[in-house]
Amino acid sequence: MRAVTEDMIRASMINMSADELEVMTVPGLHETVWDEREFLGWRDAHHKTRGYLVFWAGEELWGLMVRAAASPMPGGRSAMCVLCHTHQPAPQVSLFTAPKTGEAGARGASVGTYLCADLACSLLIRVLPVASAEIPEPEAIVTHKTRGMKDRLWNFSKSVRSDAA
Ligand SMILES: [Zn+2]
Repeated sequence: MRAVTEDMIRASMINMSADELEVMTVPGLHETVWDEREFLGWRDAHHKTRGYLVFWAGEELWGLMVRAAASPMPGGRSAMCVLCHTHQPAPQVSLFTAPKTGEAGARGASVGTYLCADLACSLLIRVLPVASAEIPEPEAIVTHKTRGMKDRLWNFSKSVRSDAA
């Protein structure tokens, strides 16, 4: 993704109240390898249940807040992250809800989804499988995953953005 600054991130959040924005913690960005990520995802260092996803929707930067479910998934279960499609055991995958934008959000509507708990899907999909007879080109797999993840992120953000309850 193209590089972004903290100011850009703060201006991009589409489903947060002014109070929530006020206390949002943005991580240091100086070591971020922008070329190797489809979105910037992080958990709030001070408000542990909150996480954020920031990405480019064409020329517009969109940021979404998601809230981790208060109780972890039932013991030992595994689940698949909706964005990167990685199967992981709980608690590496969490149920999150994203408040909707606009009037629907004001009425409390939200969209629930399973995501990698650390929201670091871009790192995860770049872990190359070992080349083998079945996997002659590991890089092609990453390219394929990248494309799929961008599509799914787009679809997810549209469902958050939709004002329909
Ligand atoms: Zn993921």
